[in-house]
Amino acid sequence: MSKAPFTRERLFCPGPTPVSDAAKLAAVSSSVYHRTDSFSALFLECRRLLGPVFGTKGMPLILTSSGSGAMESAMVNLTNQGDQVLCIRGGKFGDRWVKMANAYQCQTEVFEVEWGQSVDLNAFKSRIKALPNLKAVFFQANETSTGVFYPVQQIVAAVKELSPESLVVVDAISGLAAHKIEMDEWRIDCMVSGSQKGFGIPPGLAFIHLSDSAWQKLSQRSRFYFDLEREKKGQEKGNSAWTPATTLIASLHVALTDMNNIGINQVAEHHKRLADAVRRSLQKINLQLFAEKDQSNAVTSMRVPEGVDGLSLLKRLRNDYGAIFAGGQDHLKGKIVRFSTLGFVDQFEIVAGMAALEMALFEEGHKFDLGDGVKHLVQQLARS
Ligand SMILES: *Cc1c(COP(=O)(O)O)cnc(C)c1O
Repeated sequence: MSKAPFTRERLFCPGPTPVSDAAKLAAVSSSVYHRTDSFSALFLECRRLLGPVFGTKGMPLILTSSGSGAMESAMVNLTNQGDQVLCIRGGKFGDRWVKMANAYQCQTEVFEVEWGQSVDLNAFKSRIKALPNLKAVFFQANETSTGVFYPVQQIVAAVKELSPESLVVVDAISGLAAHKIEMDEWRIDCMVSGSQKGFGIPPGLAFIHLSDSAWQKLSQRSRFYFDLEREKKGQEKGNSAWTPATTLIASLHVALTDMNNIGINQVAEHHKRLADAVRRSLQKINLQLFAEKDQSNAVTSMRVPEGVDGLSLLKRLRNDYGAIFAGGQDHLKGKIVRFSTLGFVDQFEIVAGMAALEMALFEEGHKFDLGDGVKHLVQQLARS
């Protein structure tokens, strides 16, 4: 089958996420030289507007890299070779912390979480108690590969109580904007994020913020591109160490201004409202949610139903309906579909996503009343 005329491509994958027209236009109209007062002012304003999204009074640093670059910079700047670190691994991104810690020759301990499950706090506390030499804990706020949002505040509190000297590093690359995370209040030492997820701009920028105690515990490792101390010095005046992605900074400014005007709490509420509505509607069309507890506002994972070929479903969605959904990674390939409600996504966009999903599921032989998903979705979104 070919696409119906004028079908446009829509993103329902958890990054890159939809970008607003205003943010796109800002990028096109900007090709400025970055060593100018006006660019430095724009850069500083972006750093200032990032603070409330991170739940900090401080100003996060902006790096030119994908999100993993900020993860790597956290690893390099905050650990020494041979340090004992604990990584929570409940999916593809938890595994990335483990691989990074190994690459940098830490003594890596892994707290395993079954993919799709959340963190058992009691088991986690026992593990912390059993690691008297622990230097740092690394985990995701939102494990994007499974759609679980871990109990971040409780995890941080457990580390601070039982291992007060350990640094807590949170990968909030897909967690921010969709969830309110209070970096200062919860005492997170380092948090990272990336532009193409909750910020609703294209990939290429990463953000990182360190607590005062993290700045005091910088590692002895040699480093160059991701030398955060050097970045901090320059960025205090609005100058990044290396050429920044100027077009993305222009887009970021538009997106952050928008988010701050709406209110950071309201933005998170919006994503929760969409994700809740999607979850309830999926169950109405005989689909089973993959994550049953601590479900994410950023992405909802559902099991591919019996008798349906998961890969063929995704292909049909993309090729026939222009709807880009994400599947499962590693052992979940073909077993789950992920429906993102992250980024610059409005309530009518997810109605289109639900319609495409229903049509493709129907054609792939799933048994349900075609139209029920959209019906339940709009019933929940309409004000009663
Ligand atoms: C997307 C994502 C990353 C990786 O970001 P890149 O920009 O692809 O490097 C890391 N962690 C989480 C939780 C993510 O969702």
